[in-house]
Amino acid sequence: MSQEQKRLFVKTELLDTQKHKNLRWRCLGANCPSSCCYVPVRSSIGFKEMEYLSLYFPISFPLIKYDQNQEPRFELNLFFKLDIDTEGHCAHLGPSGCLLGEEKPYACKQYPFSPTKDSAGRTILQLDFTCPGWSESEGDIVLLSPTEMNPYFMQGFVQPGIAFLEEWQESRIFVDTLVNYDLIKPATYIYKGVSVSLNAIDEKALYELPNSVLKDFEVRGYLRAIYYHLHSVQNYRRLIENYLRRNPQPQAPAQETTFTL
Ligand code: SF4
Ligand code: SF4
Repeated sequence: MSQEQKRLFVKTELLDTQKHKNLRWRCLGANCPSSCCYVPVRSSIGFKEMEYLSLYFPISFPLIKYDQNQEPRFELNLFFKLDIDTEGHCAHLGPSGCLLGEEKPYACKQYPFSPTKDSAGRTILQLDFTCPGWSESEGDIVLLSPTEMNPYFMQGFVQPGIAFLEEWQESRIFVDTLVNYDLIKPATYIYKGVSVSLNAIDEKALYELPNSVLKDFEVRGYLRAIYYHLHSVQNYRRLIENYLRRNPQPQAPAQETTFTL
């Protein structure tokens, strides 16, 4: 797979009921030349997704800058693979597709549909034509009429996308709160000689917060979410194992695991 193919959302269009009236889609699965499960390193997630996704992925707080005029901001993200793993795919991609079934992230469930908000706050539907599954002859029809979307896409793709949008707001408030209390710190995870930099919650700083703040965190579900994050970091082992399988190291790597702030 070439580097050229390894990008998503470079050919997006808003759903147009006239232009797209004959549009069909089917996932090409194992025959896809640019499988979306190879492309991203990380993805945003919704706040409530942390509980089950922490079982499968490292969840961390990368600093992200979306455009040149913007200050970088911490985001709530899970990691599908390592930054350095240019040829690798998501740790949960099996021979017949995704191994997570209904537990895959909303960001994966919605693809290649992507509900978003316009400047007036209305939900609009973006389609990513980077995905080669679109056609006018193969697959399931997207629009049953100018006013009705095929329920297969509505329920399986658009609704998870809308849930993701709603929960993303909650993620934003959660992360901003952690930033306000200066709880996010640079950390390092090392396994079998491979070192990963991440941003993690400083547990010591957390427990130095006043009791009233900790109580508020508990009520808002933030303490639980912080435990999910800390627990999730161990999933880097799986990502590092995948990477080492494709990139064997010249010397036998050290076996120990360390996670330090
Ligand atoms: S969703 Fe699109 S890009 Fe992803 S595997 Fe299917 S056809 Fe390929
Ligand atoms: S979680 Fe599943 S659908 Fe999402 S990138 Fe991984 S293998 Fe693909």
